[in-house]
Amino acid sequence: MIFAALYGGATAAFLPTVAHRLSVRFGEPARSSCAGCGDIYPAWVRVGAACRCHPGSLMIVPVGAVTAAVLAVAIGPSALLPVYLVATVPALLLGVIDLRCRRLPDRLVGTLAVLAAVPSAILRPSMIGPAIAAGGVVLTAYAMIAVLMPGGLGLGDVKLAGVLALIVGFAGWPAVIVGVIAPHLINGPIAIIQLGRGRRTPLAFGPALLAGALIAITTA
Ligand SMILES: [Zn+2]
Repeated sequence: MIFAALYGGATAAFLPTVAHRLSVRFGEPARSSCAGCGDIYPAWVRVGAACRCHPGSLMIVPVGAVTAAVLAVAIGPSALLPVYLVATVPALLLGVIDLRCRRLPDRLVGTLAVLAAVPSAILRPSMIGPAIAAGGVVLTAYAMIAVLMPGGLGLGDVKLAGVLALIVGFAGWPAVIVGVIAPHLINGPIAIIQLGRGRRTPLAFGPALLAGALIAITTA
């Protein structure tokens, strides 16, 4: 557990700059300099905060450490543990980028899908059918919600929800059900509090989807 936490924190320490550079509007190139102070980035990946002017970006380190520790405790010494630990990297990036600019870049969602679903399929071939079914059902349901209620879910949310259902599907249907319900239990109260404060900016749904998948994998 301690090793997993150290791994999670250490890996996440490399991510703030990557997340900051990818936090751009659709179609825009990745940032080459800090959005806050204009400092040019020398490299894509480096350890530490995205910029001296942005120490808050280091919050990803404790989140990464806790996520890895929770996975290690819940899953134990299983071949699936390293799979999930590796998948945490694109998942953390997606969460941060969605919080910052309400986007879930396709390439990161695709990376998450490949990194998690391919090894899961090799380790649990008997669950390939249920996993694909879960991904398909959730993808279709979210796509219908997005079409029927414009302005709520984005296409990125739809795709991420489908990918996460596919990944969670390898853990069985109870996990899928937890993974579908949990994000709404997480974002519902936050949305109500925001409305109460008069904030009407749409809430990023990606972090709740990702947290829901983590809860599903570790509890069900
Ligand atoms: Zn800066």
